[in-house]
Amino acid sequence: MICPYCENGMQRGWVDQERFALKWIPEEDRSFMEQLLDKNVIKLTSLSQSGRLIMYHCSECKKFIVDENEIEV
Ligand SMILES: [Zn+2]
Repeated sequence: MICPYCENGMQRGWVDQERFALKWIPEEDRSFMEQLLDKNVIKLTSLSQSGRLIMYHCSECKKFIVDENEIEV
């Protein structure tokens, strides 16, 4: 993947969920239960799959990028 900020190549790697699945939750002021029911929450990893979230890193810009098409849940 090419970094959209500096246009250098990015290093492919991953974040391991270890014991708990990772989710992306939109930032809003609300209760934990409201967050659980939010349809906009994106599940990033699961125990039944690899448990890895593929991520690209640009060491120049200090940015990470996740391609939603590579999420395995
Ligand atoms: Zn960059």
